[in-house]
Parts: sequence; structure tokens; C-alpha cells
Amino acid sequence: MASRSERVAALLDRPPLRGLLRRLPTWHGVLVLNYHRVGDASAEPWDRTLWSATAERFDAQLRLLAREADVVGPADVPELVGRGRGRHVLLTFDDGYRDNREIAFPLLRAHGLTATFFLATGFLDAPHAAWWDEIAWMTRRATAAAVPAGEWLGEPVALPPGGGDADAAAARLVRVYKALPAERAEAWLAFLAEATGAGRCGPDDVAGTWMTWDHARELRDGGMTIGGHTVTHPLLARVPLERQAEEIDGCAARLRERLQEPMRWFSYPVGSRDAFSDQTRALLEQRGVELAFSFYGGYAGGRALDRLDVPRVHVGPAMDVPRLRATLSLPQLFARVDEKFSPG
Ligand SMILES: [Zn+2]
Repeated sequence: MASRSERVAALLDRPPLRGLLRRLPTWHGVLVLNYHRVGDASAEPWDRTLWSATAERFDAQLRLLAREADVVGPADVPELVGRGRGRHVLLTFDDGYRDNREIAFPLLRAHGLTATFFLATGFLDAPHAAWWDEIAWMTRRATAAAVPAGEWLGEPVALPPGGGDADAAAARLVRVYKALPAERAEAWLAFLAEATGAGRCGPDDVAGTWMTWDHARELRDGGMTIGGHTVTHPLLARVPLERQAEEIDGCAARLRERLQEPMRWFSYPVGSRDAFSDQTRALLEQRGVELAFSFYGGYAGGRALDRLDVPRVHVGPAMDVPRLRATLSLPQLFARVDEKFSPG
């Protein structure tokens, strides 16, 4: 069922409202859109909530942005907030999935647009399944009927052999992961490997999932911007200060070594309000990171910019062209995360 904001967006897309929408006054600030994966998720064993758009939808979104917005880079953000009036949009991608290079990049180039790619460097250096992807993979490979209730779960979670839906089970099990203290996360995955009967996902299973450093270089040389997203993608606020520093410094070191780029831009893994702390902010500040992006909705408007908490909007299946047009015209109303989305 369409949400209220989807119905409003559809209504605004019909004449005469559509014409009015275009004539609405522009706004101050920058709307930052966040993507993860682009392409066809339907046959993938991975977490399908990560797919932001099909190639066709992404192409249509870019066509609209090229016509009705000014797509900017991260370096433009500070001066646009509080001053620039317009429809300024920054496109961002998190994690470093290879479809970003293979599908999104050629489309961005075809439309003459730029985007920023935040890489979790551990996925490029030693390709392995991200925890959310591995959980989804396990639910699809499950031989057990359910993950039983017990130490980890109050209620059993039905798996496909027991009549459960793999995506729904994965969403539930990913939520458990996100609520755990970091030191118990690995034990939860080991338990699930056993309880689902799927075992652990090996390096061969993820072949072709992540970009290589050559891909990252191609993006950079093709006019894209590269930023950091830690090494192993932990929820930074859940790990001790020392480990946070290792994740931030390790990521910066690899960007410098492989791309000769300083880490000027960063996005917080998961990006919810509780995914980073004042300690995290202080570490980034000390290391000269210029902007750090969160992921709980909103846009960088108003008079002041919080450089270490630049808001972003989730692009998911609900972001069709009418919805994107409505968000561009009235970010005050539409720049919100209102979809179920777990990792990031
Ligand atoms: Zn991420």
C-alpha cells in the first residue's frame, strides 16, 4: 500500500500541480541522496533492501536531476548551506559494491553528473560478505525450518523450509545483529550458520560483489569523488575509542596508499543517530575530515551546517520519478527516511 507521502507525491505529479511544483521557490542548502546498490535484485542471494534502484530507474532519476537540479560535489556543500538558493543535490553511494562501477558510473557519465562513493576498504582489500548480506544469504540457503528461540531470540524465526519468507527472516535477524554489542556480533553469525544449516559464506560466494581498487581509481579518474566508510563497517558508537580510531585511520591509510587521496569526506556505517558518538566526531575532526554524512533523513538546509552530521535521504524502491521530483521541490516535506531499511 502506498504511504501517505507516496500518495501526495503522485498527486503533485499531475497537472496542474506538476507545473506549480516547478515554479515553487527554490530553497537554501543541499539535498543529499544516498544509494547503496543499483541493478536487478530479483535473483540475488544478498540483502535485497540494499538495492536503491534498477538501472532503468536510476537512469530516469538522473535525467530528472540533470534537467531540474544542480548536482554538486561535497566540496560545494559548506558554501551552499545558508547561502545558495536553488535545487542543489549531492549524490552519494555507500559501501563499495561493484555495481556502482558497472551500472551507476556509466549512467552518471552519460548524463554528465558526478557522485561521491564512500568505500569500506576491507571489502576491497579482502572481499568477503558484509554481515547483512551474509545473514540474507543464510536465510536463502537455510535447510532448517526456523531459527529457534533461546539465548538470542525471544520467538523463533521461520525460514523458507518451514514456510517463512527469506527476506522477512533476514530483516528480523539483521535487527538482532544491530542491537548486539560489537563483541557478540561474530558469535551471532556463527550461531546462525549452524541454526539455519547454511554454514558460513565463503570468499568464492562473493566473487564480483565488491569493487577493486582499479575500479575505485576509474571512478576517481572519471570525475567521481571517493570518501571513507571505515575498514570493516562496524557501528562506530558500539566499539571502544581505540577501535574507532583504527577503523577511521585504517580506512584513511588505504585511500592514501591506493588512490593518493586524503580522506576529506566520510559516511558513518549505518548512519542512524546512535551509530556515531561525540567521540567519533572528535576523531574525525582531529583527522581533518571536512564533512561526515549521517543517514536518518533530512537535508542540509537552514542557516548552519553541522559538518560532522550532514543529513542524507535514503533512495529505495519508493523513490520513483514523481517522488524524486516532489523531494526536489519540497525537501522540507519529502526529505525523510520513511521506508524500512536496515543496514547502510
Ligand atoms: Zn554502509
